[in-house]
Formats: sequence, structure tokens, C-alpha cells
Amino acid sequence: MNKTNSQALQKESNPRTLLIPKLRTEFNGQVIAPDDAEYDKARTLFYGGMDHHPEVIVRVKDTDEVARVVKLARETGLSLSIRSGGHSVVGHSVADGGIVLDLSNMRDLQIDVKGQTAWAEAGLTAGEYTMAAAAHGLATGFGDTGSVGIGGLTTGGGVGYLVRKYGLTIDDLLAAEVVTADGQVLHVDANTNPDLFWAIRGGGGNFGVVTRFQFRLHKVDSVYGGMLFLPATADVIASFIALAEAAPEELSAIANVMPAPPMPFLPAEQHGKLVIMAMLVYVGDVKEGESVIAPFRALATPIVDMVKPMQYPEIYPPEQDDYHPIAASRTMFVDRIDRSVAEVILNHLQSSTAMMAVAQLRVLGGAMARVPVEATAFAHRKSKIMVNVAALYQNPEDKATYETWVANFAEALKQNDGGAYVNFLGEDGAARIRAAYPGRTWDRLREIKAHYDPDNLFRLNQNIPPANGK
Ligand SMILES: Cc1cc2nc3c(=O)[nH]c(=O)nc-3n(C[C@H](O)[C@H](O)[C@H](O)COP(=O)(O)OP(=O)(O)OC[C@H]3O[C@@H](n4cnc5c(N)ncnc54)[C@H](O)[C@@H]3O)c2cc1C
Repeated sequence: MNKTNSQALQKESNPRTLLIPKLRTEFNGQVIAPDDAEYDKARTLFYGGMDHHPEVIVRVKDTDEVARVVKLARETGLSLSIRSGGHSVVGHSVADGGIVLDLSNMRDLQIDVKGQTAWAEAGLTAGEYTMAAAAHGLATGFGDTGSVGIGGLTTGGGVGYLVRKYGLTIDDLLAAEVVTADGQVLHVDANTNPDLFWAIRGGGGNFGVVTRFQFRLHKVDSVYGGMLFLPATADVIASFIALAEAAPEELSAIANVMPAPPMPFLPAEQHGKLVIMAMLVYVGDVKEGESVIAPFRALATPIVDMVKPMQYPEIYPPEQDDYHPIAASRTMFVDRIDRSVAEVILNHLQSSTAMMAVAQLRVLGGAMARVPVEATAFAHRKSKIMVNVAALYQNPEDKATYETWVANFAEALKQNDGGAYVNFLGEDGAARIRAAYPGRTWDRLREIKAHYDPDNLFRLNQNIPPANGK
């Protein structure tokens, strides 16, 4: 056989070369290759500054196709990433040189209004689900942003506006359908494959592709909530946190300490000054909500007060499709934010040269804290306050500067709680992944990983290596 023939034969039998034609023939879902017009948009994530070029993006149409893509990844040896809403902080969901299993076309939602449950396909966003459930006066708690995918958010835990009233998103997860590394489709719940059900409640995308989630829904009609802008002084920050901790658990609060953005509804003289942009949600009677939020309003003369009775989905305002900031961030838990911690926050923010710098403070507790630590793979039930510090910037060449800035900021805030929330981890390294799964949680996750994914097929994530060491 001459060299050209042998090369041609090799090419034909190389599963990678055959991949795209094979996918196009065999799949009903959308197959997007590098020379397709949609390729660049399809590989774009929420965050900018990542330039991953997958070999192919498969926008699957159903669970059967998910299982086939998983098998194909094994056969070809290409890396495999799972993409739902594309909000991965580090771009894990778009495999550079690999296969992207894109679930964004799987967005069926079946709501059982009477039973107050819903089966949701993983390609739905938090906003889409929330809007559809609200048509029945019902809600499941997700995060603070409507465009985040329920796929990634739920498998990592899910901390949002109902966290103190109803717990994490995973605390409302009743069952799921999971495609495992060997291509099997498994139903998981408290009685069926309970180890896998435990692991997908906080363990991230390490254990398989969740194609459908069954959630509990709560009666949430109108809420009393919205944005409240206050001047950020050390006293106001510390008092805000103290009030949020002491408030009834109907109230969940997020305080973003940051320079006031040039939003049209903010007075021009405030732009660039440090403010608390607070997001408040009181789930309950409007009059009670007013009296719970009154002391927050009294902390200082509000710069802008948009807290009002609203339909719950209004908490997710429309977002700009073409907004792709580059971010450096760190996540942590702290036990207290008193005046001196607030000073540290203000000093660091003042020193930043970033386009936007922020310290996001989320007061936890309530229903989330009542779930036993070992009940799910999210083990930070006793953590008091989540802190995320971030710098948003434009020029990728500034990465080192802002990574150093966030690292120093986080170091200065460090207290006794060494934990980390997996969904906000950036490129923090193995020690911080370990910190996301303290104590026995880590060992148990590694054992379950060894059982369901011994070859670590699902490794494009905050990775938990299988107990057998692969
Ligand atoms: C602007 C913004 C706001 C945020 N706010 C919050 C918040 O308030 N609360 C909160 O808890 N988190 C929040 N997050 C973090 C968010 O939960 C994570 O980034 C999450 O992974 C995003 O999910 P996704 O489906 O959009 O992401 P993708 O990029 O699609 O996926 C990220 C990773 O999740 C895993 N994954 C995704 N889908 C599946 C699936 N179907 N089955 C198995 N694994 C899967 C994979 O490992 C994947 O690499 C926020 C993130 C951003 C960017």
C-alpha cells in the first residue's frame, strides 16, 4: 500500500475525522462545527476573556442523544464538557478541542400545579423556569440572575433570593434523571440510586449529565422586594449585615458593595462612589415586609429605593445578551462582618483600578442551615455569610493584575470558616476545590465518583478525582 492510501485509510478509521459527518447523519439535534456560521456564538460564554475552540458542539434534543454523545466522547477520546446555561465562571462548559454537550435546546417544563412539583429539562434558565412557575403563583428558589442555567446552578447547590425561607435549590430537588459515564440513563431520588442523588446535590457536574430535575414548588405570589441603594460606610455595611442576620427568614438579602454604576436611575453625582447595591426579597405579607425592611431604609438616606410589592419573577430583570465581562473572582465564607471588616472591604474597593470592583455579601442561615451537614454534598450549612469578591475588566492582558488583587482582597477577609461554594470557584486550584467539600464529604464524593465515573470522563469541572486515583 502506498503512503497516500495508508494515510487515507487511517483518516477514515480515525473516529475523530468521522465525528462530524457521523453526528450530522445520526443526530436530530444541532451539530455545530468550526466552519458553521453559528460556531462563534455557540462557543461564547457569559464571561468574556475565554477563547475555547471545541471540535464540535452538539445541541442535543433529548436524553437519548445525551447518552449517545457521552458514548461518542468515550469512543473518540475527546474531552467532553456539559453546557446548560453557559455561566461557568472558568469556562469549563466549553471544551477546548473537545465535544460540547449543549443542553440549551432541552427546555421542557411540566408543572404539576396541584402537587406543587415540576419536571424541568436542564437547558432551562432560572428566569424561564421562574416565569413559567409564577403563572401558577409558584416558585422554586434559584440564584440572583435569570440567565443562569438550572443545570449548573442546581448541581452545585443554588443560593438565591429564597435561601433563608426555603433553603438551597437542592433542598427542593426531589429527583433527577442522570446520564452516567457509561451512557446509562438513571432515575435518582432518595430511594433509587440514593448515593448518586446525594452527590449531584452539590457535587457539580462530576457524576453525570443531569437531563431533568424534579423540583418542589412553593406558593410564592407577590413578594416585597427589589433594589435599595445606600451609601457604603463601614457603619452602614456592618449594620446592614447585622439587620439581615436578625431579620425573619422570610427575608433574604444580598449586599453588593461597589462603586455606583452609571445607571440612569442613579443620580450622576453618585456615579463611582462606593454604595451598597442591596437586593432584598421578603416572601410574605406586604405590610410585614415593609416593617422588616424599614430599619434597612433607616440606616442612611437611601440613594435610590426601588423596594416595592412585585411579582416574584420581576426580581430577574431583562439582561443584555452581548454583555460578556472578564472577571477575576474569589469566593469564601466569613463568620462576621463588623465595622473593622467593613473597613477592609472599603479600603480594598477604593484601591481597585478595575472597570468594576465588588464585594458581594450574602447572609445565609434560616431554612438552609436547618438541613443536616451530611444530607447533601453541599456541606456549608453552618456558614454564616458568603462573600464573593470580583474585579471586572476589559483587557485580557490585565489578568495577572486583577487575579492578584482579588487574591489579596480575599486573604485580607479570611476568618475561621475556610469553606468555599463550588459554583463561585474560579481558577483557585485544588486546595479550594477540596475546601468546597470538607471532611467526610470529599471522601464520600470520591468513592461515588469511582463507582459512576472511574475514568473521570466528566473532568471539565471543579474536579473530584475518583477514589481509585484516575
Ligand atoms: C452572573 C452570574 C450570577 C450568578 N449568580 C449565582 C447565584 O445567585 N447563586 C448561585 O448559586 N450561583 C450563581 N452563579 C454561579 C452559577 O450557579 C454557576 O456558574 C453555574 O455553574 C452556572 O450554571 P450554567 O448551567 O449556567 O453553566 P454552564 O457553564 O452551562 O455549566 C457550568 C458547569 O456546570 C456543570 N453542569 C451544567 N449543566 C449540567 C448538567 N445538566 N448536568 C451536570 N452538570 C452540569 C458542568 O460541570 C459545567 O461545566 C452565578 C454565575 C454568574 C455568571
